[in-house]
Amino acid sequence: MQRKPLIAGNWKMYTTAAEARELAAAVAEASKGLSDREVMIAPPYTALPVVKEVVAGSNLKLAAQNICWEEKGAFTGEISPLMLLELGCSMAIIGHSERRHIFGETDALINKRVAGAIKFGLVPVLCIGETLDEREGGRTMQVLEQQVRAGLADIVVTDPAKIVVAYEPVWAIGTGKTASEQQAQEAHHFVRDLLAKIYQKSIASQIRILYGGSVNPGNVDVLMSQEDVDGALVGGAALSAESFTRIINFK
Ligand code: PEP
Repeated sequence: MQRKPLIAGNWKMYTTAAEARELAAAVAEASKGLSDREVMIAPPYTALPVVKEVVAGSNLKLAAQNICWEEKGAFTGEISPLMLLELGCSMAIIGHSERRHIFGETDALINKRVAGAIKFGLVPVLCIGETLDEREGGRTMQVLEQQVRAGLADIVVTDPAKIVVAYEPVWAIGTGKTASEQQAQEAHHFVRDLLAKIYQKSIASQIRILYGGSVNPGNVDVLMSQEDVDGALVGGAALSAESFTRIINFK
């Protein structure tokens, strides 16, 4: 069984509902007929209702940019898995570097979010990645190992399609700097080996590992040509229908 590539657009805190409607319609149109790859978009929460309408009947997958682990309760500012399911989400980005570094989300909190997503049938996209200091200090693999082990602590994976990992070097996110294809492959290979230690090799070989960090129309093909790169998590370039269309049509 081959890993089906997944191209994911993270719209971050961009697009009003009206702007999201237009962008989602263009992406839905562009993804028509693409059957050998999956396309996912993660608009802001406030745009999910309108985007759900626009993408109905298309093969686009809808994701949230975060998720709480409880179905309801006193969790001001959080969004529950049930609310996301109601809005058509089937996936949730978790542990994005902006959540970790701007909002102080810890591995322990991220682990709860991953567990919550899985419990309610949403596919978590667990983001991991080292800072520039950590890379320059030779600690990249150590950081990735810590984030994967802690993020997936006590998470049972029997179906590899039910979880996605995204390697996103922090120094490459929104900076215009991209990891070289060798750097990406090395990190992805390390993560896959680690997943094989945590789960079985047969599971690890089927889990999709996305690369994120300034992916654009000019670098997507070479990144996607790497053996262990199974897709891309795209920020800035996902906000332009033209760029994202080229990215989802990677060769
Ligand atoms: C991201 O938001 O996950 C991301 C990788 O952003 P950018 O593509 O803008 O670097």
